[in-house]
Order: sequence, then C-alpha cells, then structure tokens
Amino acid sequence: MSNTLTHILKNECPNCHKGKVFKDKNIFLNFGFPKMNESCSHCHYTFQKEPGYFFGAMYVNYGLTVAQAIATYCIAQFFFEKTFDLRIIPIIAGVIISFSFFNLRFSRLLWIYMFKNYSS
Ligand SMILES: [Zn+2]
Repeated sequence: MSNTLTHILKNECPNCHKGKVFKDKNIFLNFGFPKMNESCSHCHYTFQKEPGYFFGAMYVNYGLTVAQAIATYCIAQFFFEKTFDLRIIPIIAGVIISFSFFNLRFSRLLWIYMFKNYSS
C-alpha cells in the first residue's frame, strides 16, 4: 500500500512504474493546468481509457479538498480563542488554493491507479 502511494507521488505509470503519467517532472510544486501523456512511453499503457474518463477524478479532488479544509480547521482552531473564529476562513481558503494544483494532479493519479486493472 505504501509502495503504491510512493509510485503515485512519483508520477509513475500504474502498469510498469517506469514511464511518467504527467509531462511535468514534479507534481508538488507545479502551477497551471496539468499536461498529461496520452500513454506510457515505456509500456504504451493508455491513461485516458475513454472520453470523460477523468470526470470521476473531480470527485476525488473534492474529497481531498474537503479533507484538507477540515484538517486546516482542526489545526487552526488551537490558535484562536473562540471555537469558530471567522479569521479561520481566509486561512482555510489560502490552504485550499495553494494545494489545488497538487490536488488536481494527485486526484487524477489516484483515479488511474484505482481503475488500473479495469479493461474496457
Ligand atoms: Zn508503463
């Protein structure tokens, strides 16, 4: 399991773990829309199996964003006197925006890995 997570975070092909899914070298510090390879350069595994395949990755992205917002709230509340201080909201917004580019890539990688054994 942790091995799979390592492959996902290294942006590796789910089939051979040698080719790259995204053309970007680093999925952590990359801003802008992701540029994906259509298939693996090593084993020719097709990443987008059908049109609209990554529509489902949007839900994964949403789940990641909500989890990060809740985690940010849980950490930030210790620095304020009231349980729900309105000054936490811009902090949560800042965290969500700064993680959005990573989430976009990470959710697509998770989606590819979830359905890697599914044959169309
Ligand atoms: Zn491959």
